[in-house]
Amino acid sequence: QARKRFGQNFLHDPGVIERIVRSINPKPDDQMVEIGPGLGALTEELLAVNPRLQVVELDRDLIPVLRTKFFNYPDFRIHEADALKFDFSELAQDGPLRIVGNLPYNISTPLIFHLLEQSGVVKDMHFMLQKEVVQRLAAGPGDNHYGRLGIMAQYFCKVQPLFEVGPGAFRPAPKVDSAIVRLVPHEQLPHPARDLATLQMVVRTAFNARRKTLRKSLGNLVSVEELQALGINDGLRPENLSLAEFVAIADFLVENRPQADTVHEADHD
Ligand code: SAM
Repeated sequence: QARKRFGQNFLHDPGVIERIVRSINPKPDDQMVEIGPGLGALTEELLAVNPRLQVVELDRDLIPVLRTKFFNYPDFRIHEADALKFDFSELAQDGPLRIVGNLPYNISTPLIFHLLEQSGVVKDMHFMLQKEVVQRLAAGPGDNHYGRLGIMAQYFCKVQPLFEVGPGAFRPAPKVDSAIVRLVPHEQLPHPARDLATLQMVVRTAFNARRKTLRKSLGNLVSVEELQALGINDGLRPENLSLAEFVAIADFLVENRPQADTVHEADHD
């Protein structure tokens, strides 16, 4: 019986499972980690290549099922834990991690933010997500789906949507279309911010008022003259601003508002 509160939709289409594993292309020496193995549909195929797979699963009723199913893999490790709070660096002793998962859709956005923060120990990530979340991850300026998730994902990673998966591939079938995405952390950040928290605050503040011009939405942080001095048109909306421009505003604040009181005032999300 799948549990709604854990976002459980189990994969059962062998063709889709095979296609996902082929995209991941696991190798025997990889430090593979699966989030939310569920009943082990993907797990089984991953273990066939790499018997040292580690998994993080929150639903305690699934742990004995996984233990029984994969008892003949002595190096298979199960962490009964909440992936939202999990410190993935603990698993990276032997090298950067390749993280995979058909993620629970109800927590996928906070989970991706949590993983982005740990991208220093990550080689790549492959996720099954709601199709719309993949669109948001990959969106650039001017796109309807462009926003905080895409900007922060692209700050840390190269984002590659791979393919779509219909509801029929799961039991129970979800109400939405799904898609597979690959995130590869940049070796060097293309637009490093002087202070990540300030960048996050600027992006959040701007998109809290998505329909407003920057003059209004960022008015408490920077003046029109300051925006113009940065070469940014204050009449634009946040969806028109590139990552590099958000970083320029954040760096400006770090340099010119040393006490950064504004950071906390504007930070109500
Ligand atoms: N990988 C399996 C599959 O494809 O059939 C299951 C995918 S199901 C969409 C999501 C899985 O994530 C479930 O097994 C669920 O129990 C687990 N899960 C939900 N919330 C979690 C959390 N916070 N941390 C770790 N696992 C979680």
